[in-house]
Amino acid sequence: MKAKIYLETHGCQMNVADSTRATKRLSSEGFQFVQSYDDADIVILNTCSIRARAESKVFNRLGQINHNTIGKGKIYGVMGCVAQLEGEELFRRSTMLDFVCGTGAIDRLPSLVSRILSGEKKVLDTGQRLSNENWDLQPADHDTNHTAFVPIIEGCNKFCSYCIVPFSRGREISRPAVEIIKEVTNLRDSGFKEVQLIGQNVNSYKPKTNEGLEEFAGATPFIRLLKAVAATGTNRIKFTTSFPKDFHAGIVEAMNEYQNLCNWVHLPVQSGSDVILKAMRRGYKSADYLDKVAAIHNSHRNVALTTDIIVGFPGENEDDFTSTLDLLKQCNFHGVYIFKYSERPGTRAANMDDDVADEVKTERFQQVENLQREVQIKIYGSYIGTKQMVLVKGISARSEADVFGHSTCNKVINFKGGTDLVGRVVEVKVVAAKHNSLYGELAH
Ligand code: SF4
Repeated sequence: MKAKIYLETHGCQMNVADSTRATKRLSSEGFQFVQSYDDADIVILNTCSIRARAESKVFNRLGQINHNTIGKGKIYGVMGCVAQLEGEELFRRSTMLDFVCGTGAIDRLPSLVSRILSGEKKVLDTGQRLSNENWDLQPADHDTNHTAFVPIIEGCNKFCSYCIVPFSRGREISRPAVEIIKEVTNLRDSGFKEVQLIGQNVNSYKPKTNEGLEEFAGATPFIRLLKAVAATGTNRIKFTTSFPKDFHAGIVEAMNEYQNLCNWVHLPVQSGSDVILKAMRRGYKSADYLDKVAAIHNSHRNVALTTDIIVGFPGENEDDFTSTLDLLKQCNFHGVYIFKYSERPGTRAANMDDDVADEVKTERFQQVENLQREVQIKIYGSYIGTKQMVLVKGISARSEADVFGHSTCNKVINFKGGTDLVGRVVEVKVVAAKHNSLYGELAH
């Protein structure tokens, strides 16, 4: 019998998708997956490096697992962004490690593991994906049978000054459109209700050929892909993340044309100050961003717009921060992910003076949070009385009598119901609202 593997995933949707692919590759070689590291022969952590704190968590977690399993002869491996960035250094920082597998080497994971099992020591692969290695996943490879992440592009060419992704994920590589369309079609045929097209910057999608997109017009390959995926008739299609500079108004037109493209856009602005946006190397000014927002708000659909904000970036003064608050007031975001800037070694911003005091960062964080809460109370309240199509995801954490799901505008909606509804799309009438969730009742 082949060895048993425990795989633990940290980080973003891309890491979730990578873990799914790693599981498929290893399962097809006969390895079995178990739910606890106690039961495993091989323990693998799929790691996130987006913040220095996320990276140190990996080492804490490794230390914890090692402490609990010491002397049990297990094999330990690290894959993902930390593996890609740190490479061989990981063997020095954590002597328990047996192998390190970078973000481009997932398809070669079975051979890495086999080399360790046959006695090789300290195996490392941080090489690029090879041209004969594809991204394919079958419906049965996913954890659920109702939602799936479908990667369309990997890596990033933007080099925002605070971000490690171009180093941990490498340069952009787009997946062939025919392969994406085939995967989405298979998911649809297997009963999946929702696919989410993912990538660090989906708007940069640029396959080597237009094969599969011939019948779909659009100003960018991503717009053509969106239309082609929508034409599969899949119930709901979401996409993330959009980079503002590359967000084309044609995306909104595609959303107007195809109702199965969900009415939600995540468009991270990060700051409302042009000085700070320049220091972040974002490549746009706040006025450019507001133009994109206007195009989204001009849609005849009620598109929910969400964003990310970093407070306390090096050099951010009171005027800069006020510009961010002003922008927030203008955009009516349905949700904001707020981050306090923290230095990420290896990035350009790490060479800047981290000169905003932590108390000031905290104060600004709270100001954004308070402002946004007021905005969201109004927005969420406006949904009362409306009917929303909800994909039911599971039993609510708050009450066993309730289930929860997501609307097409990516709102969490709770309502009375049982497990028989999980995986179904149902119509729910909204009867109450909090600032970040809705409560409803099943419409009959
Ligand atoms: S667009 Fe900027 S923030 Fe987003 S992944 Fe690329 S470098 Fe990082």
